[in-house]
Amino acid sequence: MELGTGLAVKTMQSLRTKLSLSYVMVTLICVAGISLLANLLLEQQFRKYVKDTMARQNQEIVASLTMHFNETNTWNSSSINDIGINALERGLIIRVADSQGRMIWDATLHNSGMCSQMIAHMAQNMASRYPNWKGRYEERKYSVLNNFRKVGTVTIGYYGPFYFNDYDLAFINTLNRILLAVAFFASFFSLLAGAVTAKRISSPVARVIDAAQRIAAGNLQSSDYPKTDIKEINQLIHTVDNLSVTLQKQENLRKQLTADVAHELRTPLATLQSHLEAMIDGIWPCEPARLKSCHEELLRLNRLVKDLGRLARYEGNNMMLHLSRFDLGELIAQMRLNFETEFLIKGVALNTETRSLEIEADKDKISQVLINLIDNALKYTPSGGTVDITLSEADDSLTVAVSDTGCGIAANDLPYIFERFYRSEKSRNRATGGAGIGLTVTKAILERHHGAVDVRSQAGKGSVFTITLPKNQNPETE
Ligand code: ADP
Repeated sequence: MELGTGLAVKTMQSLRTKLSLSYVMVTLICVAGISLLANLLLEQQFRKYVKDTMARQNQEIVASLTMHFNETNTWNSSSINDIGINALERGLIIRVADSQGRMIWDATLHNSGMCSQMIAHMAQNMASRYPNWKGRYEERKYSVLNNFRKVGTVTIGYYGPFYFNDYDLAFINTLNRILLAVAFFASFFSLLAGAVTAKRISSPVARVIDAAQRIAAGNLQSSDYPKTDIKEINQLIHTVDNLSVTLQKQENLRKQLTADVAHELRTPLATLQSHLEAMIDGIWPCEPARLKSCHEELLRLNRLVKDLGRLARYEGNNMMLHLSRFDLGELIAQMRLNFETEFLIKGVALNTETRSLEIEADKDKISQVLINLIDNALKYTPSGGTVDITLSEADDSLTVAVSDTGCGIAANDLPYIFERFYRSEKSRNRATGGAGIGLTVTKAILERHHGAVDVRSQAGKGSVFTITLPKNQNPETE
């Protein structure tokens, strides 16, 4: 068996592990997806923002220089100094020249160490975020105008194509750290949620497994099943419970049948034994009358064995129906023909109603039901009596009534006549009586068709057996 192989055992995981791992996996995939998306979007926006900020800063520097020149109409290196240092603090290296190209202020001359240090720091910032980043020092030139006349040039140098300053980088790194913490906590909670959910599922399942194992070991007592709000587990519990009830029923049926069969066999066997022993011991002479009585007991045993065969075929839940549509009135007419001679010989009148009514059922089994009822009516009706068979129709069912003017059934026998091997005291003593199986089989066949059988009887006056059958069988309940 596959379960027994090392591989199968190795790959088997508990529900708790499986659920927890799945939860963690889903969580990690979600957090990783969100992080990736956030970083991509953020980066796009950030690049744009950084480029826009740089362009704005450049414009501000040019505007400050223009304003400064307009105020004094000459270049004053000390006030340019302020603008230059300010720019330097923002990561921009500026050089200002007058209209003839003479240098007025140069950041690299002002603080060469700081400039190269700044460029190196920016390169380091970018490399920390993008290891393969290829940035370099870039410059842009702008004209300073006074009344539409060029009065100077400002060259703004920066680390290009763009750069992240310390604040930008800190923002991105903090965001990623937050996402990492979210992933960690989400994984922890999903592990917890997985374990809790798995426990909620696995503990009732484990108890159902226990109950099923007890059933397998033969303990069919109903178990104390767990309460759960999970639909599928409730269905499982219901199924296992039904299984134990069905097995219990089958077990009782088996025990009952064994006891009944033993009981039924005991009497003819004891009679045979005592008769034969008496003849062997010479107490009774071995004459034909004695042998005939032994032969009758043997015949009774033979009938019993045949009836047991019928019972096995019809009783129980595994009776198969071979459904077809047929005319029930026609079937009754057919029965009448088959029984005609027997009724004639016994001197019992048989009246049947001829009506054409269609039904969907197993024809052979319904024939068996009619044979049982007509046979009983004939058996228990003395010569000169009458047996009537009538057929009637309701909305979705048909009813057949077999009434006789026979010996009837005593009120104390009536509740038991459908039980296996039950015979009224009168018929028990008769040589013609059956084993008490015919009505059991009749009831089983009708129940299998979702129909019913009912009896009304009065001792000494006669009996009426009424069977009701649905016109159609519902395939879902088959
Ligand atoms: P059996 O083979 O003994 O007839 P059944 O199961 O057919 O077994 O019937 C059970 C018992 O019901 C019979 O033994 C008999 O006592 C009683 N019974 C059945 N049908 C009739 C009837 N039409 N009239 C009187 N008694 C009947």
